[in-house]
This record gives sequence, structure tokens and C-alpha cells, in this order.
Amino acid sequence: MARQSESAAHLRAHDYAWLVKRWRALAQRMGWQMGKFAEADGFPVYAIRSARQAGPRLYLSAGIHGDEPASTEALIAWCTRRARALKSCQLLIFPCLNPWGLQHNNRNDARGRDLNRGYHRQDVPVIEAQKKILRGRFFDAAVMLHEDYDAHGVYLYEIPGERPFWGEHLLAAAARHVRREPRATVEGRRCRRGLIRTRITPETLPEHPEAFCLRFGHTKRSLTFETPSEFSLTARVRAHGAVLDEVLRLLRK
Ligand SMILES: [Zn+2]
Repeated sequence: MARQSESAAHLRAHDYAWLVKRWRALAQRMGWQMGKFAEADGFPVYAIRSARQAGPRLYLSAGIHGDEPASTEALIAWCTRRARALKSCQLLIFPCLNPWGLQHNNRNDARGRDLNRGYHRQDVPVIEAQKKILRGRFFDAAVMLHEDYDAHGVYLYEIPGERPFWGEHLLAAAARHVRREPRATVEGRRCRRGLIRTRITPETLPEHPEAFCLRFGHTKRSLTFETPSEFSLTARVRAHGAVLDEVLRLLRK
């Protein structure tokens, strides 16, 4: 993307209709199926699927927290940029799981619920609808894009599963754009050069994030990447893109 159009995109990072418009154009161009699977707080919520039956199976999601605009911007920008390479993948993409939040620059949904702590519940319609889509599906990797206001650099949650682990590779790629989180403890967990890889079980946290739902039902590689919200949006978007590039490289190895 040229510099000017990139900054123009950033000015509209909380414009959900515009995000949807760009996804619709990309899906059409790629022959991907883009369908509304839920209505949440007055907004349509979409899933995008490629029709392919072979190749690496990749799950991508962004915008479950509405105040994390680098996640949604990076996902559309990266998928557009890597369109050709993505033709060989089986994709399931959730471009923005919390449209009301994105539009209002709010972490939670209109009822004040943190959707990323709601995957153990049965009373959040958008999550129920998403779980229905996921039923019986398995992915070679699931990547969830996030941001953190308290972060001092990029960091990554990698729930241990398949070896060799990817965390070090992904952080090295991201660190070319935004420095690594320097703190040794993040959200109460040990963080080593940006990597949080603690052995957990579904019982570890009573309130399940999306990453748990994926790891304990649909993939052995559950990767949650976080950029620091106070850094430049351009750098944050690039860091997310670098992580996704590295995921793609490792998937095709
Ligand atoms: Zn988040």
C-alpha cells in the first residue's frame, strides 16, 4: 500500500462499514465465500471461507476487542497483499468479531461483555454462532490478532501443542517493526522476550478466551499476537503482517 492510502486507511480504522466493503471486494476477487453468520448489537458479523479442499488450514481472526484497530486493519491489509499465496490455503477468517466495539472504540460489546472471556458460555449469540461454524473443523494453525494498552512491546501467547514451537520465529519477525515486550511478567504470566508459553488446561482460566476454544477443540497451534496500542498504528499493522507472513512461511514448509 502506498504511504498516503495507508494513512487514509488508518484514519478510518474504526469505520466498520468501510472494513466490510474492503473484505467484500477482496472475497469477490478471490472467489471466497463471505457470509453474515450473526447480528450483534445491530451490526452484521461475517465469516469468510475459501472453497479449497487442500492445502494448509488456517484460521484467522481479529477485532474481538473493538479498541484494537491494528488487528482488523492488519488482517485486511495482509490478506490483500498476500492474496496470491493464500490461494493455496484453506481459510476461515473472522475479520471483526465485535463490530459495535470497533465502531465505538470499545473493548467490550454494547452490553459491556468481554467477548474474549465468553467462550465457555452459551448465552452470547455471536459466539454461539461462531462455535457452530467451527464444529468439526480442524486447523493447522489459528492466529488471533490483538492489542494491549499496557504493553511496552509486542508479545505472543503460544499455547503449547505441536512441536517445534513457532513462537520464537513469529516474535523475531514482529520485532523487525516493533520492539519486544521487555517486561518479565505480563497479565500475571511469565514473559520471555515477548513469548508467553505456559502449559494450560481448559480449567486454568474459568472464563475462556477464543484461543482456548481453538486450542482445545480445533488446532494444536493457537497463537495470540499482541501489539502495544500506544505505538504507531503503521508499525503495529506491519508487526501483525510480519507475524502472519511467518505463519504462512512455516505452514508451507
Ligand atoms: Zn484484545
